[in-house]
Amino acid sequence: MNATSLDRRTLVKAMLATGTGLLVAPGSLLAAMPERRLAFRNVHTNEKIDARYFGAGGFDPQGLAEINHGLRDWRNGETTPIDRDLLDLLVRVRQRLGVAPRRSFDLISGYRSPETNAALREAGGATTGVATKSQHMLGKATDVALPGVPLERLRLAALSTQGGGVGFYPRDGFVHIDTGRVRSW
Ligand SMILES: [Zn+2]
Repeated sequence: MNATSLDRRTLVKAMLATGTGLLVAPGSLLAAMPERRLAFRNVHTNEKIDARYFGAGGFDPQGLAEINHGLRDWRNGETTPIDRDLLDLLVRVRQRLGVAPRRSFDLISGYRSPETNAALREAGGATTGVATKSQHMLGKATDVALPGVPLERLRLAALSTQGGGVGFYPRDGFVHIDTGRVRSW
């Protein structure tokens, strides 16, 4: 799998598609928000969470704990602290699409333990986009979809944030979003 850096045309296309201009600095809308929340439905277990992870007092330990639990490795129950920048990035992506805060992301994959990552690699290898040093193992990646939003729009919104890596998996029905280096595939 070849990761390519974002070129200007892709970015412009992404901004046009999401109605976002360069005049809006990334994160500026976020700073003005009184609270930040994320809702997920795990597509494997149908487990749902709806957590307010940031409020007037800053990051909310209760909400973060709910998210860490909700995004755990569902195969073996292992958890890890999910990167807060990733949470903010997902909120920004959702904002760019004009989607309400309590609408759930479909969660295909969040944290992946080393054991799960190795097993997935063995099963599917490069064709499923499972990397040896996966950002999922660092709590810095999610594979998500947003019901009612075409996957291509979700991809373009994620690209337009320039918040990290964006992988497009239309066949599997999700977009990979991480807070690693800005790159796309
Ligand atoms: Zn992924």
